[in-house]
Amino acid sequence: MGEKFDALKARLGEIHNLNMVTSLVGWDQQTYMPPGGAEAKASQMATLSRLSHDMFVSDETGRLIEDAAGEVEGMDYESDEASLIRVIREDYAEQTKLPTELVAELTRQTALAHEVWANARANNNFRAFQPALEKIVELTIRQAEYLGYQDEPYDALLNQYERGITTRQVKAIFDEHKPELVKLIADVRANADAVSDAVLRQPFDVDKQRAFGLDVVQKYGYDLSRGRQDVAVHPFCTNFSRNDVRITTRFNPNWLNPALFGTMHEAGHAMYEQGVAPALEGTPMASGTSLGVHESQSRMWENMVGRSKGFWSWALPQLQAIFPDQLGSVDLDSFYKAINKVQPSLIRVEADEATYNLHIMLRFELETQMMAGKLNIADLPEEWNDRFEAFFGITPESDTLGVLQDVHWSSGLVGYFPTYALGNLLAAQYYNQALKAHPSIPDEIASGQFDTLRGWLNTNIHQHGRKFTSEELTRRVTGESIQSRDYIQYLKTKFSDVYGL
Ligand code: ZN
Repeated sequence: MGEKFDALKARLGEIHNLNMVTSLVGWDQQTYMPPGGAEAKASQMATLSRLSHDMFVSDETGRLIEDAAGEVEGMDYESDEASLIRVIREDYAEQTKLPTELVAELTRQTALAHEVWANARANNNFRAFQPALEKIVELTIRQAEYLGYQDEPYDALLNQYERGITTRQVKAIFDEHKPELVKLIADVRANADAVSDAVLRQPFDVDKQRAFGLDVVQKYGYDLSRGRQDVAVHPFCTNFSRNDVRITTRFNPNWLNPALFGTMHEAGHAMYEQGVAPALEGTPMASGTSLGVHESQSRMWENMVGRSKGFWSWALPQLQAIFPDQLGSVDLDSFYKAINKVQPSLIRVEADEATYNLHIMLRFELETQMMAGKLNIADLPEEWNDRFEAFFGITPESDTLGVLQDVHWSSGLVGYFPTYALGNLLAAQYYNQALKAHPSIPDEIASGQFDTLRGWLNTNIHQHGRKFTSEELTRRVTGESIQSRDYIQYLKTKFSDVYGL
């Protein structure tokens, strides 16, 4: 490439390196750091983030982008070079729109709010958190005004996590499948006795759980010569290169699900990052394109593959050999039902496949109203509980188990929740497309073969990194936009079988 493009790439490479080292410090913070290191680590991360941010939003970077853009003019839209300029121009425009003073104020308020929220949650006292949340919402609305939007402020916030998607689009998708979900859950509740998951809630040796989980995800295609697994309270996946993608897991000695399905989930994220094309390594393009597409990968390996009957026809005998006392006498059908038990829960992070999106819709409705100035923060607990009753048929007995449960708002993350639900929808769309291309996939899964599915995902999704937006990618892969039809069909088929509906 030309000199100017190379100069831009070199600068972006340095910024990328700073960001990757910041991630490494973050990984250490959540895995091996002794508690005493917290203060120093926070300060080190703040320094690294500031250096990276200052370098990126500088006039120098802006000049390099425009100079390099001249050199790639006329190049193919899908080329690495044209894609880099397109994506980095948008990043630059977005990050330079926010005044430093506003960014600093948001950082300060959210740092303070975290402690306030944690105490309010522990003491079931929403009123203690209310002033901090009011401040954050006010700053977030200002942030949206600076970022700019077409129809409403919430568009600007959504766009930070799922580029190009609009509030109107999300609302339409949610409105379309909300009644279906509410009905499905009511039907399942009426047949709750059909499924027991007691077999999963027994003592299971943690080392054996770990060995089995790792074996499964290596067969999926998670490459441990370029990855590793550690223990963390809140499981996550992080990467410092496509050749160093790490997952963390939480083990429960008396319940099989968290570690087993959590490992599959995080490995789904990890395979996406490991699968980015080598040519994009060291550039800001070497990453998953959006939170929603990322979540589609984790959900697919966790649910569509990992909770399917075919998968367990292959895996159950192996798990029974490891845990003969606990699982020796369970048959495939009962085990399959147990891992797919639907249990309307007050807590989002414990929600099953069937109820998960309703938890998100509730937050989406509240967030959009808050951002539009149509909802008084003081009324949030009541608004939360009314919706919860309408969606799930149960009412939270406390704000700790209701409006105060999630960390997101205290961190200033508004517009983030919808990406979880969009991930579920995309997982179903992509999986159906993979099955169309390779009808043999279910049979392969039932014999412990996953290469065809992973290869298809790599070719169609992983290798592109951030080249295409979520919308562009979904159109390329499936020929249409994101929709809820495939997901609802998937849930109906599965839970009719599990609950005999
Ligand atoms: Zn995830």
